[in-house]
Amino acid sequence: MTGYRNAKNVGHVMIGAGCLSQLGEVLAPRRSIGGPAVWFYDHFFKGRELPGQPAARPEDITVYVDTAAEPTTEGVDACAARVRGELDGRQPCAMLAFGGGSTMDTCKCVANLLANPGRAEDYQGWELVRNPAPYKIGCPTLSGTGAESSRTGVLCNEARNLKLGMNSDYSMFDQLVLDPELLETVPRDQYFFTGIDTYMHCFESLSGSYRNVVVDALAEKALELCREVFGQGDMMSPEHREKLMIASYLGGMAAGFVGVVHPLSAGLSMVLHLRHGFANVCALSVLEDIYPREHAEVMGMMKRQGVTLPGNLCGGCTGEQFEQMYMGSIVHDKPLTNALGPNFREILTPESVIARFRRI
Ligand code: NAD
Ligand code: ZN
Repeated sequence: MTGYRNAKNVGHVMIGAGCLSQLGEVLAPRRSIGGPAVWFYDHFFKGRELPGQPAARPEDITVYVDTAAEPTTEGVDACAARVRGELDGRQPCAMLAFGGGSTMDTCKCVANLLANPGRAEDYQGWELVRNPAPYKIGCPTLSGTGAESSRTGVLCNEARNLKLGMNSDYSMFDQLVLDPELLETVPRDQYFFTGIDTYMHCFESLSGSYRNVVVDALAEKALELCREVFGQGDMMSPEHREKLMIASYLGGMAAGFVGVVHPLSAGLSMVLHLRHGFANVCALSVLEDIYPREHAEVMGMMKRQGVTLPGNLCGGCTGEQFEQMYMGSIVHDKPLTNALGPNFREILTPESVIARFRRI
């Protein structure tokens, strides 16, 4: 055993404005296998047609994913039970996801559960999925998380107070359709907060100590694209939408170790139920001493793009809640060691972290 990682990438990727119109061609060979397609849509698309999208067939199964909150193990278990029931023993020819990280992760995790016994929480961790999932096509409608190209599907396990992914090659999509026209309807703030998640993943990976050349190369390019998208002109122009879609795809493939932003963001999200991208920016806003360059850069990007943080989010929090936020942050020892070294607890004492949270 050498311990070298055998890295997998997404099989096929189509990129370009209007490329969703070619989804029918991509799906045709899968249709010839037989079996229904399972379509996962973000609930935003209920009653809305996506431009160029092929029609579903009567035997197909459609799931609208409620993304008012991020996906949970319980929600995914319920969804898998419903899809399994409707499949009634048939194999799906393909599973397709149209949405942001929440919808893509739901599709990835439900697919794993269709091929593996038990519940979602049994597969939260690394290399726990035993059997290959059905063929999956990812069509992001919101870019930034990198869920389209990563090997994880992130779920909140509320009973265990834990946010953890199903990290497995089987979680990956087989095909991606990256059509920047699908980003057109995203509200500006959401576009910024999710988009900037790529920036966070990549700068945190590049400023850490666990590195490799491939990850660095992908992260550097993704970061460069983010700087163009958010630092020059309108972040939602057609050209910038395409660049952000590519940055997110590269960032998801880079998937290196993160740093201090993500752990603090996780602590905030767990207690205040904030969305991932938004919580990241809140966390970075109080890390000016640890990440001075990135703090200044992101605050500048927000100003340029007309996006603001509400402020005083933690004003009403109790001492117990601050304690929970601290615990929910400090538990992420791998990224914290990556960023600050093995003695990270000496820098991130409970008092200093809670003092930061109080400023959010
Ligand atoms: P999301 O999927 O939760 O969606 C956020 C909002 O955007 C929703 O209200 C949704 O309806 C709306 N939306 C999406 N597309 C739209 C469109 N085209 N037009 C209008 N509205 C649209 O947001 P997200 O930030 O993409 O995903 C967050 C989730 O991703 C979290 O659960 C996070 O933990 C996870 N995540 C996963 C990975 C991974 O590698 N799998 C990485 C980072 C984060
Ligand atoms: Zn993230």
